[in-house]
Amino acid sequence: MKKAICPGSFDPVTLGHVDIIERAADIFDEVVVLVMSNGAKKSSLFTIEERIGLLEKCLKKPNVKIDTYNGLLVDYARKEDAVAIVKGLRAVSDYDYEFQQALTNKSLYPECETVFLCARGENMFLSSSMVKEVCALGGDISSFVPASISDIIYKRCKGDK
Ligand code: ADP
Repeated sequence: MKKAICPGSFDPVTLGHVDIIERAADIFDEVVVLVMSNGAKKSSLFTIEERIGLLEKCLKKPNVKIDTYNGLLVDYARKEDAVAIVKGLRAVSDYDYEFQQALTNKSLYPECETVFLCARGENMFLSSSMVKEVCALGGDISSFVPASISDIIYKRCKGDK
């Protein structure tokens, strides 16, 4: 059984994430969406548990599981016997950082490959940060996030619980 990991902060999950996760699920036997707290990113809009709840509302494929981990990604991959880390590549601006991460992970755990899937054209400039910015300024996020979670994001951006 070939297991892959789709790691990220998913704060919140966007249509760009869902696309990459579903395409990974068509390639691998099992995909674990791994919600990680990212120290490099500033304060988060949703807690880890809330982000998992939002992902559960959007991901319906039976071979997609959700988990969380706050250690090294390769340690989780080794523990779970994952053969691949799947990342989405948007504009060239993603490339430098992703390439560095892929090389580092490869040297830490050579048995696990990083696989890049190209973002769809319509998702090329879509990020969780962009969703938060648009939403905070009262913009329409319906083409950026799954319909099942857009109201929750609107409410949170307005400062409601
Ligand atoms: P963001 O960069 O939006 O904060 P994450 O850190 O949660 O997102 O990213 C998790 C993974 O999803 C990364 O591999 C990232 O490249 C990918 N990803 C994020 N947004 C998109 C998108 N719009 N299209 C394709 N992949 C994406």
